[in-house]
This record gives sequence, structure tokens and C-alpha cells, in this order.
Amino acid sequence: MLNDPRAAVRLVREIEGIALRLAPRRVTLMEVCGTHTAVIVKSGLRRLLPKNIQLVSGPGCPVCVTPPGLIDAAITLAGRPRVILVTFGDMLRVPGGGGSLEAARAGGADVRVIYSPTELFALARENRSSRIVFFSAGFETTAPSVAWTLMQAERSGIENLFVIAANKLLPPALEVLAQAPDLRIDGFICPGHVSAIIGASAFEAVARTHHVPAVVSGFEPVDILLAVLMLLRQVQAAKALVEIAYMRAVTFGGNRRAQVIIRTVFKRVDSEWRGFSLIPDSGLGFTKGYARFDAVMEAGMAVESGRPAPGCMCGEILRGVKSPEECGLFGTTCTPETPIGPCIVSSEGTCAAHYNQKTAGIDDF
Ligand code: SF4
Repeated sequence: MLNDPRAAVRLVREIEGIALRLAPRRVTLMEVCGTHTAVIVKSGLRRLLPKNIQLVSGPGCPVCVTPPGLIDAAITLAGRPRVILVTFGDMLRVPGGGGSLEAARAGGADVRVIYSPTELFALARENRSSRIVFFSAGFETTAPSVAWTLMQAERSGIENLFVIAANKLLPPALEVLAQAPDLRIDGFICPGHVSAIIGASAFEAVARTHHVPAVVSGFEPVDILLAVLMLLRQVQAAKALVEIAYMRAVTFGGNRRAQVIIRTVFKRVDSEWRGFSLIPDSGLGFTKGYARFDAVMEAGMAVESGRPAPGCMCGEILRGVKSPEECGLFGTTCTPETPIGPCIVSSEGTCAAHYNQKTAGIDDF
């Protein structure tokens, strides 16, 4: 069923039927997640949809929404003596206000890439005279493993491990987008992996309070088509509910154990997102019992807002008000080899997805 082209055709026909009945109304649906964007662009889903159904990309790339000031803070920390700065690979090349962690490494800083937070144990044990600083950017998907790692570190008495807490929470950002005057969103396609942790009910405020329907989707093209169809049915019926088009992995309640682990180590804090101003309760800071792991506090640093590069439209792209082709730097000054903004670096970045298609000679629109 998931890879069955006949299922895709059936879904597209149903979508066309509703789109025709809604015409000339234009319906704008936002795929929040960067992985969804990559699937949509790669599989050419936009071209399959009727003209009055528009998909726009949202802020679901964790590396992309990390503000430049925090990247600058990580670079500063990496430059201090006896510090090993650790991060996931995508973050390495993301430009802050003045350089990247990759450039810092080329300049002599000890910057390393890990694939799982559990690798931090070995690093901390093998480098006891150094401070291990983990730059933790991510959404609710990675927060449980980071929190679990810190719980184990606390139990094991590991004292040289610190974390730059840059994890963010998606529902508050969707509430901001649902109210954005320059972007009339008719429905959200919500990320399956985030929802597997927090549960689909986490998007109820978006639907109930802001009257924008939300459907949780999986990551196959057919999953996304099903989510589009479910959203259009709601639009047609003037409903705003949270629904799940990914029942094989997501429930309304989510993973309770993972939620407890997150709450043990982290608490909700206001957080700055690239392209947005401060979003209340949209980030994860440390609870009292885990405050000693806070790398920024331990270093006595103040994190500035930082500035994106001149001409970079990543902020507008992350809010869904512009597409990569509208950025004057796209594919000329800014390429994956010479990134000006984060959206072309990360595999979940909207500009990266479009650039890959463009260089393959495929026009997504
Ligand atoms: S093309 Fe580059 S500079 Fe322009 S929005 Fe995308 S990442 Fe930012």
C-alpha cells in the first residue's frame, strides 16, 4: 500500500475532487517537517496536486531554526582551552554571525561530530581533563535521548559533561504561524517522529484555539497525500481537528515514558528561533536538578541574538512566506559547498532540498 502507485493515484483523484469543489479558493497547507519537505520535493508531490492546493515548507529543520547567536556562542566555547565541542554533523557547517564550527575546527578548535548522545559517555570518560560540551539542537525527537544520557551521567558521577541546550518544541511555533498575518495557513501537516514522542494531542491548541486543522503524517509520499486529503476534507467541512494519518507509529498520547524522561531533565523556557522572534515556552532549559549541565551558565556567557548574513532569506523560508528561488543568493553565492544560510546546509533544509532537485534538472514547481 505505502509504495503502491495505484494508492497514490486514488488519493490524488480524491484530492482533485475536493479541490474542484473548493475552487476558486486557494488552500495553503504547511508541511512543518524538513523530512517531509525533502520527500515532497524529491517525489514531485507539488506537481501532482491541483493548482489551488499549495504546499509551503515550515520551520521543521532543527539546525536551521537555531539562532546565529547560539552558534557564535558554541564557536566561542570551542575556542576555549581544554574544551571538546561535540555536535551532530549538520550543525558543523551552519554559519553563525561570524563563521561556522567547521571553520573553528580548521582554526585549531577541537570540534567533533557524534551520531548519538550516548557517545558522550565514552568521550567524557576518555577525556577527563577536558570539558565535553554537547551542542544539542533538535526537536522533541532527540530530547529524550539527550535527557536520558544526562540522567545516566548524573548517576555515574560524570562531571566534565555539559550541554548547550538548543532543543525546541514545535507546537508553540505552529501557534505563532497559525496567527501570522502574512501567511494564511489552512492546515498543518505535522511531523510523525515528533508526534510519536509528544502525541498528536500536543497540536490541539493549534486546532482548537487557532482554528487550523492539523494532521500527523508519516514519511512516505502516500502518507503525505493521505494527510493532504484528510486536511482538505476538514477544510471542506469547515472543521479544525487534530487527526492522525500515521496510526502505525503515532497515538494521541505519545510516548509517556519519553515524556517523563524529558520532564525530569528539561523544563519549558522561552526560546529564540531563527526567523522568528522569541517564542514563549518553545525551548527546553534545565530543571533545577540538572542545572549543572548547562554549558552556557557554567561558562558565564551571555548569548547575543546574532545576525544572519546580509541577503539571506532563511528566516522568511522558515516561516513559509518565501521559497528558496526568491532568495537572490540561491544557487549563485549560496550553495551547499558555500553556504550563506543554514537552509542549504542541512539535509532537512528547504533550500538544500530544492537545490538538489535543481541540480538534477528537475523543476519542483
Ligand atoms: S539560498 Fe542560502 S542564503 Fe538564501 S535563504 Fe537559502 S540558505 Fe539562506
